[in-house]
Amino acid sequence: MNSNDQLFETPFGDYSLQRFPPATGKSPLRAWDAADQYLLQQLSEQPMADTDRLLLLNDQFGALGLALHPWQPQSSGDSFLSQQACRNNLQFNNLSADSLTQLDSLSAPEGPFDVVLIKIPKTLALLEDQLYRLRPHLTETTRILAAAMARDIHTSTLQLFERIIGPTKTSLARKKARLIFCHPQAAQLDGACATDSPYPSEYTLPETGWHLSNHANVFSQAKLDIGTRFFMEHIDKLPAAEQIIDLGCGNGLLGLLAAERQPEARIAFYDESHMALASAQENCRHILANPSRASFHLDNALASADSNSANLILNNPPFHQKNVVGDHIAWQMFKDAKRVLQADGELWVIGNRHLQYHAKLKKLFGNCQTAASNNKFVLLVSRKR
Ligand code: SAM
Repeated sequence: MNSNDQLFETPFGDYSLQRFPPATGKSPLRAWDAADQYLLQQLSEQPMADTDRLLLLNDQFGALGLALHPWQPQSSGDSFLSQQACRNNLQFNNLSADSLTQLDSLSAPEGPFDVVLIKIPKTLALLEDQLYRLRPHLTETTRILAAAMARDIHTSTLQLFERIIGPTKTSLARKKARLIFCHPQAAQLDGACATDSPYPSEYTLPETGWHLSNHANVFSQAKLDIGTRFFMEHIDKLPAAEQIIDLGCGNGLLGLLAAERQPEARIAFYDESHMALASAQENCRHILANPSRASFHLDNALASADSNSANLILNNPPFHQKNVVGDHIAWQMFKDAKRVLQADGELWVIGNRHLQYHAKLKKLFGNCQTAASNNKFVLLVSRKR
């Protein structure tokens, strides 16, 4: 076992699991939570038939997929990092990559399913979209079990299940986790009566007149983020570049604004969310006069980008990974940006003042200038020497 591996003991066998990206620190965070354990315990008490068709939604590091691999589940979610974690964990445990089928959040699974297990995502909009996408693959006898830490289950969560699929109740809490039991209702499964998903949704940016399309799990999906807006107000300060990267692109707005001002530049969009990348792609198709100069990359920061290949990188870093608060992803993004920039290339970062990105960038690049600031945000620039 690697030093970061931990043994996940389940009624379906024990598996050694790691997070991806690997957890750091002396007492690394585990690759599963009490909600995973509660789901598996519940399943073992009312066993599945060998032939049951199983779908997993939002299995964060593969804990459910590995434990239930004998059923060859389909596993769907929006996170590339989660999919990579699951692939790694299958390999660490000498299980074939074909033990389960991975699907991205925008691809239809192959139902109908006998059992569906759902880890409740942080974003309510993603859950809503997933329930709409799931509904055509259910029958009245499908067993739907969902789980989360109790603090993440709200009345609004249960109302979504009730409204889209059918009657819903919750279990008692166990180790601060709770289960949700939902029973598909014939009237709601009937396409004629059912309403459709409101996603992707759209908002208009008055400054440009652009209609920006946003899938359910896109950052600041319903309206422009105030940090992104602050960056936008200073977009004319960006230097000319041949190759621009929008790192952690969300719906792609920052990259689009830069590309619009530099019609000869190539622009590459990077994100770990399937929905973010699909939204950026859709927005480029509608907004850019020449969309073929844009490329789209599902990645962990810039892991797959060539070194010394870009002149300008734009970044509004995430400041939490799922429930884990921290700045390790921002740090990874800055390190990758430094590797990928050519000499004299610039990284432009927008962040909340309190996140102290200035100190990090200065340490890494040896320089960091403030391009703009207000009482809440700073727009920082570091140049690769
Ligand atoms: N640039 C967009 C904007 O300003 O509206 C989105 C910024 S949002 C604060 C951060 C983005 O980083 C999200 O779209 C998220 O999916 C993405 N992200 C998070 N972790 C990532 C990782 N490890 N690699 C690539 N992208 C990541």
